[in-house]
Amino acid sequence: MTNRNSESQGIQSQEARTASNFLHDIIAEDVRTRKYGDALVQTRFPPEPNGYLHIGHAKAICLDFGLADEFGGKTNLRFDDTNPEKEEQEYVDSIQRDVRWLGFEWDRLCYASDYFPQLYEWALELIKAGKAYVDDLSADQIRQYRGTLTEPGKDSPFRNRTVEENLDLFVRMKSGEFPDGSRVLRAKIDMTSPNLNMRDPVMYRILHATHHRTGDEWCIYPMYDYAHGQSDSIEHVTHSMCTLEFTDHQPLYRWYIEQLGIFPSQQIEFDRLNITYTLLSKRKLLQLVQEKHVHGWDDPRMPTLSAFRRRGFTPEAIRTFSTSTGVSRTNGITDIEMLEHFQRDDLNRRVNRAMAVLRPLKLVIDNYPAGQEEFVEVANNPEDPAAGTRQVPFSGEIYMEQDDFREVPPPKYYRLSPGKEVRLRNAYFITAQSVVKDATGSIVAVHCTYDPASRGGNSPDGRKVKSTIHWVSTAHAISAEIRLYDKLFLKPDPNDVEEGGSVLDNLNPNSLEVLADAKLEPSLANAKLEDRFQFERVGYFCVDSDSTPDHMVFNRTLPLKDTWAKIEKKSEA
Ligand code: ATP
Ligand code: MG
Repeated sequence: MTNRNSESQGIQSQEARTASNFLHDIIAEDVRTRKYGDALVQTRFPPEPNGYLHIGHAKAICLDFGLADEFGGKTNLRFDDTNPEKEEQEYVDSIQRDVRWLGFEWDRLCYASDYFPQLYEWALELIKAGKAYVDDLSADQIRQYRGTLTEPGKDSPFRNRTVEENLDLFVRMKSGEFPDGSRVLRAKIDMTSPNLNMRDPVMYRILHATHHRTGDEWCIYPMYDYAHGQSDSIEHVTHSMCTLEFTDHQPLYRWYIEQLGIFPSQQIEFDRLNITYTLLSKRKLLQLVQEKHVHGWDDPRMPTLSAFRRRGFTPEAIRTFSTSTGVSRTNGITDIEMLEHFQRDDLNRRVNRAMAVLRPLKLVIDNYPAGQEEFVEVANNPEDPAAGTRQVPFSGEIYMEQDDFREVPPPKYYRLSPGKEVRLRNAYFITAQSVVKDATGSIVAVHCTYDPASRGGNSPDGRKVKSTIHWVSTAHAISAEIRLYDKLFLKPDPNDVEEGGSVLDNLNPNSLEVLADAKLEPSLANAKLEDRFQFERVGYFCVDSDSTPDHMVFNRTLPLKDTWAKIEKKSEA
């Protein structure tokens, strides 16, 4: 992976990328020249069901569905399920759920495995045309014979088998006569091609494995390159968009289609999305799950779409982010702060505010009438008057954040300290008077007085306070568990490891902090799964799937601080 650009360069290249969407231009030109006649633009999103979708896939999904939609075309969801050992129904189900959650609906739901019979027929056709042969070399030998970038390969001793012999052996491969790895079917192209992918690539391997859909029907499975282009062709895909690592495979993609004389799908490559501090490889994410470095694929620290959903991210923000990263013909790296910025922007506009005290400290208002309680009226969302108001109970004993009080305030500390006055949000001005400590010397309560004339948080006589703090009435508070998340990896590039090391070395040991007994305002008792809020001054939160009415659990989606906005300002200056 490349080094991260300086932040301002990141933004400039961002704009350049969005301005020239070459994928859009290619499709527009094909439509204009009627390259595919009357056929509609047809795309596909082709995940392998070997893991959960991650945010990198969101970019591909937005392109595949978005571009087809722009041109009045259609998009299939196709499972590229040709590796039975790694694929599972759980992944097939999660992928469909996640594509829909992101806001897209496919035209046809397809599986490469549905094409196994057709792919097999085409393989027979290529054998008959003298363009494919059965090879008995071992995998190691095939590698040796393939040569390198600087040395041509050499022909396998089995390359010149007769058509009859190849047909006989291939049919017997399919009928299960031979053990795994003993033979393969290869395309007969050119062992001296400068492109290693064209040096007689393997088309089929023997694998006695149970497939999640076809069961034990097949014991030979097509390789990615042989399956992918032909699957595109079967579905009349006009524009098959994939990531840059397949660029060198494009000649092979075209070779199969040309030899078979089938629908001429075309492959177009774009850059893979990379994000700082984020691992985007299903294989490596699977390792994190299997070795229990996280609590499953949807652990809110993961970069999977399921995890983002659980953490409180919205499909709208992920789509905005995905399209804003643009497309390019070279791989780059995008700052995670950019995604967080779009997410805050979206949540700020639409979620209701609430008060929650994460690390409670008791505050007793000595001059508040004993036994009295009242309600203060609070706007649900200052950004959206239509969201209305609610009544929040107030009383003479409330919780405040431990962080909002210092017995001995450091310089520039404007929150509460003995003798200082602050505003309780939407309620009253208070002045701290004294503290109560336990036997160990920890502060267990702060005593203060309030000014009844400051009701609503308004200054009665023009006097100013330097800060406003949030609170929850102790008698009305509900308790909840709160989970705070930090980056899962400590390095901008999690793959940046010492020789012999692994990404695990870069895991952040403090990526999860659990606060067992936070205090929330009572209106939150009605919050339902995935409901989202801004807890004033502390961040955006949502109800977690572990939450029950007796034990509520909230995830912090993001803290309020928007570092991206700062980065953006700096680069504008
Ligand atoms: P991984 O290495 O995480 O398994 P993959 O490319 O093997 O990724 P597939 O299931 O084969 O995953 O991908 C389905 C589609 O999503 C492909 O077209 C692939 O190019 C695209 N895709 C995967 N990762 C990214 C990414 N980081 N950015 C953009 N597109 C991606
Ligand atoms: Mg893959």
